[in-house]
Amino acid sequence: MSSVSDYFGSLVFDDRVMRANLSADVYASLRKTIDEGSELDIGVANAVADAMKKWAVEKGATHFTHWFQPLTGITAEKHDSFISTSPDGSVIMEFSGKELIKGEPDASSFPSGGLRTTFEARGYTAWDPTSYAFIKGKTLCIPTAFCSYGGHALDKKTPLLRSMEALSKQALRILRLFGNTSAKRVVSSVGPEQEYFLISKEMYDKRPDLRFTGRTLFGAKPPKGQELDDHYFGVIKPSVAAFMEDLNDELWKLGILAKTEHNEVAPSQHELAPIYTTTNIATDHNQLTMEIMQKVAVKHGLVCLLHEKPFAGVNGSGKHNNWSVSYGGKNLLDPGSNPDENALFLTVLCAIIEAVDKHADLLRASVAGAGNDHRLGANEAPPAVISIYLGDQLADVIERLEKGVGGKAKKADTLKIGVDTLPALPKDATDRNRTSPFAFTGNKFEFRAPGSSVCCAGPTMVLNTIVAEAVDRIAGELEGAKVAGKAKPGEHTAAFHNALQKILQETLKAHSRIIFNGNGYEAGWLQEAEKRGLPNAPTTPAALAALDKKENRALFEKYGVMTARELKSRHEIFIEEYATKIRIEGTCARDMASEMILPAVKAEYAETVAAFAAAERMGVSSGTNALMDDLVELGSGLDAIKANLRKLDTALVENESAAVLAAMQALRTTVDSLEHKVSDKRWPLPKYRDMLFLY
Ligand code: ADP
Ligand code: MG
Repeated sequence: MSSVSDYFGSLVFDDRVMRANLSADVYASLRKTIDEGSELDIGVANAVADAMKKWAVEKGATHFTHWFQPLTGITAEKHDSFISTSPDGSVIMEFSGKELIKGEPDASSFPSGGLRTTFEARGYTAWDPTSYAFIKGKTLCIPTAFCSYGGHALDKKTPLLRSMEALSKQALRILRLFGNTSAKRVVSSVGPEQEYFLISKEMYDKRPDLRFTGRTLFGAKPPKGQELDDHYFGVIKPSVAAFMEDLNDELWKLGILAKTEHNEVAPSQHELAPIYTTTNIATDHNQLTMEIMQKVAVKHGLVCLLHEKPFAGVNGSGKHNNWSVSYGGKNLLDPGSNPDENALFLTVLCAIIEAVDKHADLLRASVAGAGNDHRLGANEAPPAVISIYLGDQLADVIERLEKGVGGKAKKADTLKIGVDTLPALPKDATDRNRTSPFAFTGNKFEFRAPGSSVCCAGPTMVLNTIVAEAVDRIAGELEGAKVAGKAKPGEHTAAFHNALQKILQETLKAHSRIIFNGNGYEAGWLQEAEKRGLPNAPTTPAALAALDKKENRALFEKYGVMTARELKSRHEIFIEEYATKIRIEGTCARDMASEMILPAVKAEYAETVAAFAAAERMGVSSGTNALMDDLVELGSGLDAIKANLRKLDTALVENESAAVLAAMQALRTTVDSLEHKVSDKRWPLPKYRDMLFLY
């Protein structure tokens, strides 16, 4: 068997392949486009396309596709074959530079929120050369951005790329102020930890709710859930181990750095984490990972559930977005080892504190969705209130930095920027505070609010943009102070440090309310958060309102991330998506209850009636009390199901999401209580105990 290093990236047209298959000139020109964003001329594009095609055909590819991420949150592709006719009747394999750099999918059915009317249905896709092309099945996939003909972004990737630019531009100003003259680009990186469930396909097929909505709409608690904590980091079962092995192989071939895997808290729940990489590549890779997980699972007779809350009563699944900012391999969230590096770190940290406090609403909106509503604030994932966890030591540093203002604090308590050295901060290796939505973990922030199915692009785009804004403000003030202090660029004079100290103190004074190091699951925190004025949007519709605020429109416009129209279209699309998902859930619950569960309960009822009648006929008295009890329970259960179904129907007709959710919950409570009263052989659905304890 070949070793991983032999086949890692074997299906990727990566730098190694480019270097080997392109002429030196073409390679250099392409590299310049990738690294510096310079324009690609058609001659180079033709040469690249030709090399790509030859490479792909050799690997068995027959088709190519522009692979993109429409606003549905999943990836889309439309396959074209390479074949082209030849005058002698044969076919040749062709792929031009034009086809590489631009595609025109008839994409009228993708959501556009009014940005593209159906009569001008064609949007276009444009090659994103910073993300390598790869082969999936028999298709060469070219990562692309997706826009309307008016140039409006119709995808998740375009604003993400723009937000990376915005952050880089602003962060470079700070670097220059600190004397760095060589850095060309500041990049944000993401390492998403992906949680998921695996259940047997045989059971999945018997559950319309899982097939249509991704979650179980009915199901009583099993005798054992996650109470014993025996699943977390437990021994991986053979069927799951085989799946993981196969999955790793597939991911590695695609150059995806799948690194760790373990069992999660809930039974049948697992996690996969890759080594972190540049944001847009990490996003592409995570989308691919989710897709391949599902494909590989089916090969193993399993189904991979990526929904945030497939099972009630056990933990749901998240996607911890680990995020950091770096230049030339140096991480700006690493405190460093001397006062200067510490000062830079504290500057970036204060900018992040300001950004998260100012735009907690946008971060919350970026993780909003029908599925995640079941997780956030349910004491299994962070609350819907966004706050920052710094850990005791860093919180202490920040407090001492803030105290310099107001004269109340003793002098010895304050921290002197550019003079004092930070203590060695521990790296959080053990998820010490799982209750915080946004936790500092040594050299990165872990955004824990995103749900398992979310596309990383949304939350990361928001993070990049809001931090760009805060960095911009701080850089502006510092630039002013530099002039006032007459320091040369990069000179770390006392005046510079004093100015920085003052700016950071003021930043903290205004924004340290967002820092919370306590237990986010405690009810007291929500009251405290309200006192601090932190926003709390418990549901998706409430959270999405942030996308309709004037100041947020101004923010995205100012940093060139999204136009007002683009933001508006997203707002509309996400609201519609939420309502549609709830409607599908409601309809599915209604159909299952009336077509599957009601008949089962009726049959049980009828059987009990017959038994009771027979006993009476025969004059048997023992057992009739029990039978009568059962009859009453089943009978009132039938009545309750009927009554709840009527309510659900009304809510569906009125198309009110909140009412549909409430009616579904009431129906579920009734149905789940009947699960134990109907004989096992008659119950029409696989139960939690059957689904969650796979071997
Ligand atoms: P923890 O155990 O604290 O969650 P891990 O080392 O397991 O930390 O990392 C979790 C995820 O965070 C991985 O995907 C990892 O690649 C990613 N990660 C680690 N360092 C960084 C960083 N500097 N920037 C972004 N992501 C990172
Ligand atoms: Mg973690």
